[in-house]
Amino acid sequence: MKCKEFENNLVSFLYNETSDDMAEEMRRHLAHCKRCRCRLTEFSETKRLCEQWVDYPVKQDILKNMMFKLRPEIITIPELAEYLRVDETLIKAHLGIIPHIRLGEEVRFRKKTIMQWLDRIEYRPERSWSRHDFEISSDIFKEIKIEQE
Ligand SMILES: [Zn+2]
Repeated sequence: MKCKEFENNLVSFLYNETSDDMAEEMRRHLAHCKRCRCRLTEFSETKRLCEQWVDYPVKQDILKNMMFKLRPEIITIPELAEYLRVDETLIKAHLGIIPHIRLGEEVRFRKKTIMQWLDRIEYRPERSWSRHDFEISSDIFKEIKIEQE
């Protein structure tokens, strides 16, 4: 096993999500690679710190986001649902428009493709902000201020 492959599977390894064969190969790699042993220690420490936060909802969101970034290139329906903060059923219902890979009954997503897809479907008003927008928004703020008084 090469260091690159070790790194790609490191997070799954920490969460006991790799296959037994993979875990065994990774332990063999660790036995002779100091660099990856250090990586593992760093990640374990990060994981431990993150777990101390779990009681705080906001930090849990940060953790989930962070874990998403650290996850392997390929993710599952629950992982995508978690990242997009939607229900899994919604993901399943929209497979017709979400780029995915189907292997038999299983559905997987490539993180990279999902990111590109999100960029494409994100709604962005076409007009750029102008002085006019600024005036409208200051009027709105004035109104809000009046209501508060
Ligand atoms: Zn290594």
